[in-house]
Amino acid sequence: MAKKVALITGASSGIGKDTALVLKDMGYKVYGAARRMDKMKDIEQKGVSIMSLDVTDEESMIACVDSVVKKEGRIDVLVNNAGYGFYGAIEDVPMEEARKQLDVNLFGLARMTQLVLPTMRKQHAGKIINISSMAGRVCTPFGAWYHATKYAVEGFSDCLRMEVEPFGIDVVLIEPGAIKTDWGIIAANHLQEVSAKGAYKKQANRVANYFKKAYTSNSISKPELISNTIARAVRAKKPKTRYLVGYGAKLSVFSKHILSDRMYDKIIKKVMR
Ligand code: NDP
Repeated sequence: MAKKVALITGASSGIGKDTALVLKDMGYKVYGAARRMDKMKDIEQKGVSIMSLDVTDEESMIACVDSVVKKEGRIDVLVNNAGYGFYGAIEDVPMEEARKQLDVNLFGLARMTQLVLPTMRKQHAGKIINISSMAGRVCTPFGAWYHATKYAVEGFSDCLRMEVEPFGIDVVLIEPGAIKTDWGIIAANHLQEVSAKGAYKKQANRVANYFKKAYTSNSISKPELISNTIARAVRAKKPKTRYLVGYGAKLSVFSKHILSDRMYDKIIKKVMR
């Protein structure tokens, strides 16, 4: 039987890169896609096929999916992983950056989904794994646009699951907690870029420093935890619809569930200083 095929976005770093290797070791023919081809040379040497992809560029997305379908004739797993956090006070974040945040984290994921669906429907099989976040279930100060994208990914995925189930396609949400990748430093840098000097500077610098400290420490979870969770979902005949996993994830969602909004706000602001 032909090898099963997986396409992973954001494979040049962190969770996506690790997932590409884990699925390859599971026997999948893996296509890893991202903008920085040079950052995927190492996984290419280990047997992952690499592709250039910008999830904000329509032509790039079409070319990527078309090329996999042309070469393999099928796509069994799509891991919609590409994403980043543009943190900053709502008052300070330029609308252009806010739109870019939605373009990558939501519309990119949505368009990649649209592009693989005809192939998956034809196969009457397929899994779409959407990398959401605990940030799709709870909120942090200065993360409004990021949380907006991840809350949207949650709703989008729940709707999608109901629509595609009759075609044999399943949809799984992965909701990581804090994972040691480039994500935290990128979010902290954006936050300082836009809010380090203005009216919100005191709290913004505190939150940025909290991220920098957390994401350079060894106390948060490693990307392997998430790639192994993705592998579990890929292997399972009937996977869970959402996997909440990694540093701080279960505790924050549970706290949000049992506390009043104001009490949760107070605690999260205290933790992130
Ligand atoms: P990294 O910064 O290590 O990786 C992000 C990946 O996204 C890179 O490979 C990057 O590739 C890709 N990417 C960004 N913009 C684009 C674009 N326009 N087109 C294509 N690819 C793009 O972070 P993580 O591995 O942590 O992030 C992966 C996912 O996990 C994200 O969706 C993130 O929101 C989510 N997540 C992360 C958590 C964490 O604590 N690390 C927690 C919860 C969720 P390139 O720049 O080469 O295009």
